[in-house]
Amino acid sequence: MIYNELRRDYLLERWVVIATERARRPTDLSKQRVEQGKFASCPLCPGNENMTPPAVLVYLPNSGEGNVKKDSEQNDFRHKNWVLRCIPNLFPAFSPPRQEADADHIMKDNTYGYAVGHHEVIIESPNHADHPANAKTQQLIQLINAYKDRLAELSTKPYVKYVQIFRNHGSDAGASLSHAHSQIIAMPFTPKILSDEMTASKTYYERHKRCVFCDLVDQETRTLRHIMDNEHFTVFSPYASIHPMEFWVLPKRHSPNFLDLTEGEIRVFAETLKITMRALKDAVNDPPYNYGFHLALNRETQEYYHWHLEVYPKLTMWAGFEKSTGVYINTVPPEVASAELKKTMHN
Ligand SMILES: [Zn+2]
Ligand SMILES: [Zn+2]
Ligand SMILES: [Zn+2]
Repeated sequence: MIYNELRRDYLLERWVVIATERARRPTDLSKQRVEQGKFASCPLCPGNENMTPPAVLVYLPNSGEGNVKKDSEQNDFRHKNWVLRCIPNLFPAFSPPRQEADADHIMKDNTYGYAVGHHEVIIESPNHADHPANAKTQQLIQLINAYKDRLAELSTKPYVKYVQIFRNHGSDAGASLSHAHSQIIAMPFTPKILSDEMTASKTYYERHKRCVFCDLVDQETRTLRHIMDNEHFTVFSPYASIHPMEFWVLPKRHSPNFLDLTEGEIRVFAETLKITMRALKDAVNDPPYNYGFHLALNRETQEYYHWHLEVYPKLTMWAGFEKSTGVYINTVPPEVASAELKKTMHN
């Protein structure tokens, strides 16, 4: 008899069963997609700006090549000719403190607090279906710049301890609107997955005097899980992937967050995002997915934490076992995921 493999995450105390006996080809997991189509009432489409709150950040076309002009909106005023908008979420999970005392009044005994922070939506393009897999590189450059601008602004607020930037694609992955958008939640504590990654990478650093992610960039390039590589980034399916077709994008230059990304690195990141998201779309019939950045904001993490993007395709359902144990079953080994993504990848 052949055993399934048990694999542990590089950093987290999290196990996955790589179920080769039940192994499926990734294409078997792809679903018939119900076309959502465009709705005249899409609140994120141009012309409907008044259906949304005033933007905290708007990119406007500038006469110069590729450049944008930045502005915001107040009261009833809305820009019309925009290329990207960032607006407060109409139904925020976290909202700014109404008075200074509220920001102080959180987590006093570590069991209770006000959900103080920010919850924003980045409308990535005026074109409804300009998701990263179809977008022009220039648009993705703007998107990454917007991530960077908002991270810079939100991370300086005294009540913000962590900023989660993420994207939900497809209603099965939690996207309630089909217009291309990302979300940002600035929150008053560091969430568990992040603090666990930080603690484990700190321990690794103390033991080896090296950053674990820098070592991963080096090691995973030489495995079957490696997907692609360029001047500034490495992409691979992680050893203990808990999602079928999961992949991570790691920058080669060590940095705890992307506030110091150069113009050149942003361009290459945009190209990397476009190539990999399009490969995923082509490999499994435009699957629903979530992606999220992992980064660190506090100075002390400088040496041992290394930002990255994790992409989680949604091709299976977590059920009783996963939900009650935090142990996962993945029927697509990461080595197979990598091979499938490489097949559909092109420049
Ligand atoms: Zn729209
Ligand atoms: Zn590093
Ligand atoms: Zn991570």
